Amino acid sequence: PCSVENYDQITDTALKVRASGANILRGGAYKPRTSPYAFQGLKLEGLALLEQAKELTGMPICTEIMSPKLVEEFDRRVDVIQVGARNMQNFDLLTELGQTRKPILLKRGLSATISEWLMSAEYIMAGGNPNVILCERGIRTFETMVRNNLDISAVPLLKRQSHLPVIVDPSHAAGMAWMVEPLSRAAIAAGADGLMIEVHSNPKAALCDGAQSLDPEEFGRLMASVTSRAAFEGKRM
Ligand code: PEP
Ligand code: MN
Repeated sequence: PCSVENYDQITDTALKVRASGANILRGGAYKPRTSPYAFQGLKLEGLALLEQAKELTGMPICTEIMSPKLVEEFDRRVDVIQVGARNMQNFDLLTELGQTRKPILLKRGLSATISEWLMSAEYIMAGGNPNVILCERGIRTFETMVRNNLDISAVPLLKRQSHLPVIVDPSHAAGMAWMVEPLSRAAIAAGADGLMIEVHSNPKAALCDGAQSLDPEEFGRLMASVTSRAAFEGKRM
């Protein structure tokens, strides 16, 4: 889910996505919201709920970091640390993450070029941490009918220019749940190594990004569809 909201929401979502074949649980505890009056996340309480969901399901957990001050805490408690689009060029944060050996999920900035994005990955790797995963999540263009334009060409470009794994987040690109499946299939066809899909046990009640969140049944159907696409490409989910 976009954010960790309470025990029932995170564990219910986790159990259901695991049953459909998801293998990492990603949920936001610290939320970088455009408005300071919007839900900002449960912060450390959200992190504790993620740990409980991990305990219950055995799934590794991933969550977003915003401050260099929290690197030590996240390094101890989280399996994959997400750097969100808004912090792609928070160089102090990237430098600090370079001191860990934790996998870092580095999302593309809202209007970042591919070179700028790769340089941000360099900030992490220059510190000695080679474990960077790139995540394309759509960019700003003149088009307003989607939340962000999924830059599908970024996938083959990055696979050619870099050795790093590349995953795609079709949820923040589309901004609407019905479009997540076709974009997921396109991402796999273009060579993506993985997908990050927002799922909520009850999207209508979500505190953040409900419109783009799949419910668990829709996620089950998406997994079946993407699995067949991956098989066509000679890959396994
Ligand atoms: C998120 O992953 O929930 C998120 C805030 O995405 P982005 O940083 O890509 O906007
Ligand atoms: Mn989100």
